[in-house]
Amino acid sequence: MSQVDILSGLGGKSSAAIRVRHQGRSLLMDAGGPLHPQERCDWVRETGPLDAILISHDHPDHIGSVARLPWGIPLYCTPEVATALPPGRSWRPLPRQGSRSILGIEVTTGRAGHSHGGLWLHLDVGDGLFYSGDASFESLLFPFDPPPPAGTLLLDASYGLYDTGQRQCQQALWQQLTRPTVLPLPLSGRAIELALWLLRMEKTQPIDWTMDRHCHQMVCRWTQCDPDAFRPGLPDALQRLADRRWPEHAPTMLVADRNDGHWDWPGRRLLHTGYLTPDRRERVAAGLEHWQRWNVHLRAGDLVRLRDTLGARRLVPLFTSLTQTAAWRDRLGPQLHTDSVLELNDAVETKPFHLSAPR
Ligand SMILES: [Zn+2]
Repeated sequence: MSQVDILSGLGGKSSAAIRVRHQGRSLLMDAGGPLHPQERCDWVRETGPLDAILISHDHPDHIGSVARLPWGIPLYCTPEVATALPPGRSWRPLPRQGSRSILGIEVTTGRAGHSHGGLWLHLDVGDGLFYSGDASFESLLFPFDPPPPAGTLLLDASYGLYDTGQRQCQQALWQQLTRPTVLPLPLSGRAIELALWLLRMEKTQPIDWTMDRHCHQMVCRWTQCDPDAFRPGLPDALQRLADRRWPEHAPTMLVADRNDGHWDWPGRRLLHTGYLTPDRRERVAAGLEHWQRWNVHLRAGDLVRLRDTLGARRLVPLFTSLTQTAAWRDRLGPQLHTDSVLELNDAVETKPFHLSAPR
């Protein structure tokens, strides 16, 4: 018998920490830190002894508490994610697509479509345990690799029951760019993704835009990276972005998010596209700043698709409120599971399953 304990990440957007106990050993998937200064991360005191740590990707809510865990515990991640570890923290490599044995468990990994070097994790325990980390099928930058079948799914449901496609988000965003606008963006993904989108749009639509030197430096750095981390053809587009001379100002500006507020950009609209801290939520509600989502997480329809494709009998939506239980049950069916403790019966056999790749 194996057991999963969701130490953090269930019932709301919060740091990720999931412990798997198997044959007397304990493995932790993600070691998330706070999303904003007011958030506490008490789960760190509840882990008990750990034998291994696996990190899905380098965002603070998945990696931010590594420094608070004993440094002697073997930690596994990709080289890209390792650059975000505390200086001097040792690590062992996870394949971008492949498998390796950790604590006697076959761990299979694939690209999760959400961040540079970010992975989903599949553990061969019980009838298969799949943890998406943060994931998306819609990224212009990163591919999502089809996972193996799994009886139990722990899925990124950061967007709750929201199910609007990226194309519609792009159309809505485009409408917002008719006035001088600044978009503060995380450098590790969305800044470059929006730059690629604008590069495509300018082929058919007039738009005067620029990116700041931090975004440009990140683009230049990514042109040196292993192209296998990206969607096919992407390195050429990155090179075009790297080679261009970017003016300091333009009506539409992509800038590295340094916790900007509307006071930093007088005369321009400040448009957010992702997670809003409580402070920003207040300013958006007051009409001082603006918001239009750019999808970087799975949508409700994607959760259903993974449930059906992987043949799951249990699905736990993570990083989201579950107070609308009836609506969740309606969307995900009897496979919906909302307890923080799951037992995995190692005797259950995995049925052969025809796997088709998500789009
Ligand atoms: Zn993330």
